[in-house]
Amino acid sequence: MTQASLKITEIFYSLQGESTTVGLPTVFVRLTGCPLRCCYCDSEYAFYGGERLSLNVILEKVASYNPRYICVTGGEPLAQRECLKLLTLLCDAGYQVSLETSGALAVDAVDPRVIKVMDLKTPGSGEVARNRWENIPVLTPQDQIKFVICSREDYEWARFKLDEFALAEKVSDVLFSPSFGQIQPLELAEWILADNLKVRFQLQLHKLLWNDVPGH
Ligand code: SF4
Repeated sequence: MTQASLKITEIFYSLQGESTTVGLPTVFVRLTGCPLRCCYCDSEYAFYGGERLSLNVILEKVASYNPRYICVTGGEPLAQRECLKLLTLLCDAGYQVSLETSGALAVDAVDPRVIKVMDLKTPGSGEVARNRWENIPVLTPQDQIKFVICSREDYEWARFKLDEFALAEKVSDVLFSPSFGQIQPLELAEWILADNLKVRFQLQLHKLLWNDVPGH
């Protein structure tokens, strides 16, 4: 039994809305707090508040859904040190675990069994200076990199980074996602095809189904 605890905004069961496990029933553990302020953030309600729960209670709540997939998200989950312990305990319990992280904090101490879905923040996010480029060599072939694209300029920037770091060869998938309400998804889809990019286009399924209401 462990006494460690984390500030938690919500634990809920829904369909995975993003990444390569999109559509799979998943338990989400949303940790409270984030040191970034991306202009398109859709989880500002997780910046403050939350409830302090012991890791044992978190594990019990997760288990009550009898899930196969767990997604630890935020906020920025790695901003709380005990997140690393939670990730390991979830893997030990036999779940397939993914971590959604901003790319601004070090990922080298994350349990290697965890699939890291790491953002690279574009200029349009307002947080490009926070990218921790040292994280890229730490990523493994099971991990994913996500760009949220706000404009054509962001697209060009992302395309450049794709080449510069040979990202498509480094991780299982590079995800290009249109920033909701900033560019048309169809525009982004057509740019990707025109340039024959080795990336995966994605829309956020939970926004289409539930209009981004917390708890889904
Ligand atoms: S890193 Fe994520 S949670 Fe934090 S401000 Fe950016 S989009 Fe929001």
